[in-house]
Amino acid sequence: MADRQPNPLWHPFADMGAVDGDRFVVTRGEGSYVWDETGNRYFDATASLWYANLGHGRPEITRAVTAQLEKLDAYHLFARTANEPALRLASRLSELAPIPGSKVFLGSGGGDVVDTAVKIARAYFVHTGRPNKTHVIGRTQGYHGTHGFGTAVGGIAVNAEGFGPLPGEFSHVAYDSPAALDAEIRRVGPERVAAFFCEPVIGAGGVLLPPDGYVEAVAEICRQHEVLFVADCVICGFGRLGTWFGIDRWPVRPDLVTTAKGITGGTIPLGALLVAPHVAEPFFTGRPGAPVLRHGATYAGHPVACAAANATLDIYERDDLIPRGRTLEKPLADALSGADGHAAVAEVRAGLGFLAAVELTPDVLQAHPGAADRLYRLLLAEGVIVRPVAKGIVLSPPLIADEPELDLLASAIPRALDALVSTVE
Ligand code: PLP
Repeated sequence: MADRQPNPLWHPFADMGAVDGDRFVVTRGEGSYVWDETGNRYFDATASLWYANLGHGRPEITRAVTAQLEKLDAYHLFARTANEPALRLASRLSELAPIPGSKVFLGSGGGDVVDTAVKIARAYFVHTGRPNKTHVIGRTQGYHGTHGFGTAVGGIAVNAEGFGPLPGEFSHVAYDSPAALDAEIRRVGPERVAAFFCEPVIGAGGVLLPPDGYVEAVAEICRQHEVLFVADCVICGFGRLGTWFGIDRWPVRPDLVTTAKGITGGTIPLGALLVAPHVAEPFFTGRPGAPVLRHGATYAGHPVACAAANATLDIYERDDLIPRGRTLEKPLADALSGADGHAAVAEVRAGLGFLAAVELTPDVLQAHPGAADRLYRLLLAEGVIVRPVAKGIVLSPPLIADEPELDLLASAIPRALDALVSTVE
């Protein structure tokens, strides 16, 4: 498993002093499983990085990508140039969107479309005569990628440290309090606030579920103050919460919806921003001379990525996989009930979507600062990949996972917790 050779590859979010020579090299994937370079098999209980919602090794996607590479391997979307897979994908997403008729801006990943969302929100107010509406509010523990604006709107404090000043005019409110959002908008002044960023279920920040009524309440507060409600559904979309976009589990009307990850099952990088018709209107006037959004990445709407996305959407539809994120939420919570009662566990968060967190007690975390990483390694030895976060582990299995895999979690996690406790005592 370990790569003892020094290698120049610099990993995201990694202590390279520790990683160098201790890599976990994944070489093959099929269905809900991946294999390492020594042939060990693992249940991919994180769907890689929250995105292999279809599992691995889908021949339909391989065929679509190969066919696209053979027909048109690459072409850009700038100005008036388009490609067929991008046009098809935009139409499909617009039809599925929580606000029908949404426009679709394509990008190269989640962080890319998050930054696009900030720029479009601000540009919208510029072009509707309110240029002072520039402030953006995020939530504590929120994660919105690592680009400039996304780093600033993210609410995991350590992720914003050590880079000098970030873009100004961003602030954060308690992730579970609509009242805090209302108070912050009033403090800044509604005439200055452009947007509020909200992951329906916070993912990377530790799988934090919204309190009952939270999503409806913040959407209404945004509406009252004319603040754009940006649903960051990069993780929550494409079945993770049992609906197409995640935010459509609630009866709310987001102004902007960011998506990525599961849109291609992670096979090819792609992000898509849905822009509600009223936000897009100043740019889609129906006659030449409209404001130009001077923004967009080279790989936006890459035909191969869009072909992968179209093939992925075909599979979600054909196999009716999207609702499984909801069907499986209780079985996943049940599979974690053994962990829930464990002495090393402070809290299990599950029951809304096919994702969960197991948070360790402060005692365990204090006795062993590397406890989350240790638990992750103990579970690897059990043949299960989970993701360590600050206070425990998170899980987001492929939507195709079923009873044997949930049984594996139910038995392996308490065993690994026992082993963790015995090593920290
Ligand atoms: N937004 C959310 C909610 C995410 O979870 C992530 C990544 O995990 C991002 C944005 C950033 O996406 P990417 O890593 O593709 O830039």
